[in-house]
Amino acid sequence: MINEPFYSYGSYLKKKYGVPAFRVGIDAGFSCPNRKSGRESSGCTYCDAFGARAMYQRTEGALSDDVDVNLKKDIVCQTEKAAGFLKKRYKAEIFLLYFQAFSSTYGSTEHLKAVYDYALSLQDYSELIVSTRPDCLDREKVELLADYKKQGLDVWVELGLQSSNDATLKRVNRGHSVADFEKSYKLLQDYGIKTAVHLIFGLPGEGETEIMQTCRYTAGLNPEGVKFHNLHIPYNTPLYQDFLKGKADAPTTEEYLEWVIKAIQMMPESTVIMRLTCDSREDERAAPKDFVKKTEFYNLLRTEMLKREVFQGRLKDNNLL
Ligand code: SF4
Repeated sequence: MINEPFYSYGSYLKKKYGVPAFRVGIDAGFSCPNRKSGRESSGCTYCDAFGARAMYQRTEGALSDDVDVNLKKDIVCQTEKAAGFLKKRYKAEIFLLYFQAFSSTYGSTEHLKAVYDYALSLQDYSELIVSTRPDCLDREKVELLADYKKQGLDVWVELGLQSSNDATLKRVNRGHSVADFEKSYKLLQDYGIKTAVHLIFGLPGEGETEIMQTCRYTAGLNPEGVKFHNLHIPYNTPLYQDFLKGKADAPTTEEYLEWVIKAIQMMPESTVIMRLTCDSREDERAAPKDFVKKTEFYNLLRTEMLKREVFQGRLKDNNLL
């Protein structure tokens, strides 16, 4: 981290591969146990039917042990589209397979293996990355993920915590506890699987004190990665109803910037800051409406941290915040 105030994901990939490396995001139709009747039913209060996956992904799959022919076609189509775009636009040379949509370990181990194997067979990949919830992992699934490491792939799991406060998790209907998170996190660490902890700043009932408690807890785990998100309030969610009643709102750029500056200083220097803001379509969310774009936020953050002469890890060993 030379002259940079934090260890960004871009720097990590550059250091690791030395050539342009990019994620190929695939929606393989996984659903989520917190949306029990499928993707259209309600889960976390801030989650709409489209909120949990990248905007270019649109699939609804089954939980059978096999991969049906339509899903195969869809995965081929998504792979060709994404890899083709990344090669043409960014001269990508290294590809990382990324299952981001909903809970990408929700299904039988046989089904997961079939989906992962099929997607991996379509392109030369260096990494397998799956995003999931703490209650969608058990030893059998973690062993499956660890098998891909033996095949030479780097394996990451992005694990949703959002807040280290059980009352908040209950308030937003996360459907798991901090203890559930700890159990899964430990299992992943036992098998040497790199883990990125997913956090949301600005959840209902949380201010700076609660957010910094979550950051202190997360930093104490010494994770390989962390992802910060500003709360978004999509239409058609329970949270939107609270927003209409004035009971919930999304943080402004200024508020969120201050939280992220503090959070980064608390993180160990080795933890990769894999994400700084949430992504959603402007026309699908009620708030925030005037939040700066992703690149602008990155530049604001970097400039402000350099100006204040603060950096990642500065406060990891004490409780000055
Ligand atoms: S865990 Fe993710 S996909 Fe499931 S309801 Fe919550 S935000 Fe939506």
